Formats: sequence, C-alpha cells, structure tokens
Amino acid sequence: MGLLDQKFGQGGVLVSHVDDLVNWARLSSLWPMGFGIACCAIEMMGAFASGYDLDRIGVFPRPSPRQSDVMIVAGTVTFKMADRLRRLYEQMPEPRYVISMGSCANCGGPYWQWGYHVVKGVDRIVPVDVYVPGCPPRPETLIGGILKLQEKIRKETLMTPEALEKLIARKKGAAV
Ligand code: SF4
Repeated sequence: MGLLDQKFGQGGVLVSHVDDLVNWARLSSLWPMGFGIACCAIEMMGAFASGYDLDRIGVFPRPSPRQSDVMIVAGTVTFKMADRLRRLYEQMPEPRYVISMGSCANCGGPYWQWGYHVVKGVDRIVPVDVYVPGCPPRPETLIGGILKLQEKIRKETLMTPEALEKLIARKKGAAV
C-alpha cells in the first residue's frame, strides 16, 4: 500500500513504511539539471514555463549538478560534448537519474546514420532511466516521462546499505 493510500483518522496519525515515506519525498521533489543542447531544449524550457508549470509536481530546475538528482538530456549529444556530460553526471549525488529527451539523445535522431560527430544514444555515456520519444517531444511528453520516473522511484528501496549499493552498481554497470 502506498503512502497516499493510507487513511487519515480523526487523530491525524499516519502509519507507513519508511520506504514509502522517503520515496514519496524524493519523487515529489525532483530537481533536474537541464542539459539543453539543441532544439529539444526549447520544449524542455516550455515545460518549465508557466503554461505547464512543472513546479506543481515539485520539479525545479537547478543550475548545478551538485543540487540535482535528475539530468534531462535534451538534444543532440556530440562526441565533444559527451565527456562534459559524463563529468557533470558524476558530480551529481546518488541516487541520481537520467531522462533522455528526444530522438537525438535516444539514438542519434536524424544523425543516426551520417552524423559522424553525434553519439548514437546518450545511454552510451550515462545510464538512462526513462526515454522520451519525439523530434522534438512536446512538453506533455516530457511531463509523461517525469511521471514515469516518479513511478520508478516509488518502487525503489534505499533503506539498507546493500540496497543502495545494488542501485549504484546497477547504474554504474549500465553505463559504457
Ligand atoms: S530530436 Fe529533433 S528536435 Fe530534438 S534535438 Fe534532435 S533534431 Fe532537434
């Protein structure tokens, strides 16, 4: 039973699993480091603006990787940029997540065949948790990806050192 399914009595007592409580707090305050590097970034900025208002689900863009727990890669990742992207990812604290936004970040997009300078998928650089399809994806699609990530976080456990180590190892193992 999830945290939000619990019934509140007249006395205001709440009983829950610690995991549910911690995960509810984490998924309700995702702070992305926007990695806007091409046209998809315009749609990402649109999602942050007042029309879609991501603040209402606790998503606040941050200017520093050290304050962020999710990286949104929005655009075309070139080989020159890949090294910087990986370094910024490594500066984010664990547990950290990556959303790949748009065809370029997912698989190279329009450059998948002849783009000699384009990485054919950001998952070759960092482990990706959610792929958002489109060229470019509309803000609604990015919001759908964030909701998917929230569902993923809801099922995690971080309450034992072994669980945390497993999570970190899985993410390290997924990266090339
Ligand atoms: S997926 Fe399309 S819109 Fe997004 S960065 Fe690539 S070319 Fe631009």
